[in-house]
Order: sequence, then structure tokens, then C-alpha cells
Amino acid sequence: MWRINEIVESKGARVVTTTPHATVLDAASLMNAHHIGALVVLEEGHVVGIITERDILTRVVARQRNPSSTSVSEVMTERVVVCEPRTTIDEVRHVMRERRIRHVPVVDGGRLAGMISIGDVNLADNATLADTVRDLEAYIRSA
Ligand code: AMP
Repeated sequence: MWRINEIVESKGARVVTTTPHATVLDAASLMNAHHIGALVVLEEGHVVGIITERDILTRVVARQRNPSSTSVSEVMTERVVVCEPRTTIDEVRHVMRERRIRHVPVVDGGRLAGMISIGDVNLADNATLADTVRDLEAYIRSA
């Protein structure tokens, strides 16, 4: 696998989202229900932020804020790093490492078209490695 669209095709394009006005408690419940660590924040169809479990830990729990009276907009990150379906997996791995982020939404022609987590990148890397090993073994056998 080389490009982001291959990951999206295999995992699906569904992205779990929230709104800026939702409470952090709602956001945490949604993450738990879907077994995920991040939600894209949408307002009138536009991406206006991202909230991850790390934001809840550092900006809510560590500051002793009340999750049921704190809104998503107060603790989300507003400048969202996104990628496109044709972006390479290498590029996304690089941006995750550089920016210290584990989630990158996929945008296609201005539309939300998927979500890539660091786990997806690792899985794709493993699949590519397994393919390489298989090819090399076949090459060695045929020699
Ligand atoms: P994460 O490692 O993905 O849980 O995120 C670490 C921090 O980076 C949190 O403050 C997130 O809100 C922020 N973050 C995560 N993903 C992105 C992204 N794609 N664009 C901008 N900020 C992000």
C-alpha cells in the first residue's frame, strides 16, 4: 500500500464527528462508543477542529475542568492538518511524526472522506512489509 486512498478503501470512509457546541462529556462518550481516539469537529458541514483523547487528558482532566460544562470548542485544536486520498502513506507518517499527532482526516474536494490514525499507518506498513518478504521468498525460491 502506498497511498491514503488504499487505506480508506480497506477501512471505509466513515468519520465520527461532533460539533463545537457538544460537551466534552458527549465527545468522550462518543469516542468510547466507537472505540476511537479522535473526533472531527464540524459546523455547517465544514471542518472547524479536531478533538482527541489527548485534549481531554491535557486540557480538561489535568486542569480539573468539568467535562459536562466544558464545550468541545473550548478544548479542540482549530488548525486541522488534513491529507488527500492521493497523499502517500509516507507523507502522512512524516507529518504525524513531525507534528506529534496520531490522527489525520482525509479531505477530497473539500469533503470529509475518511480518517487515518497512526494505527492504520502501522497496519499498512506491516502489510507492505509482508508483501515484500513474500516477494523476496518467491525470488529466492526461483533462483
Ligand atoms: P493525537 O496524538 O492525535 O491524540 O493529538 C495530539 C494533539 O494534536 C491534540 O491536541 C490534538 O487536538 C492535535 N491533533 C491531532 N490530530 C490533529 C490534526 N490532524 N490536525 C491538527 N491537530 C491535531
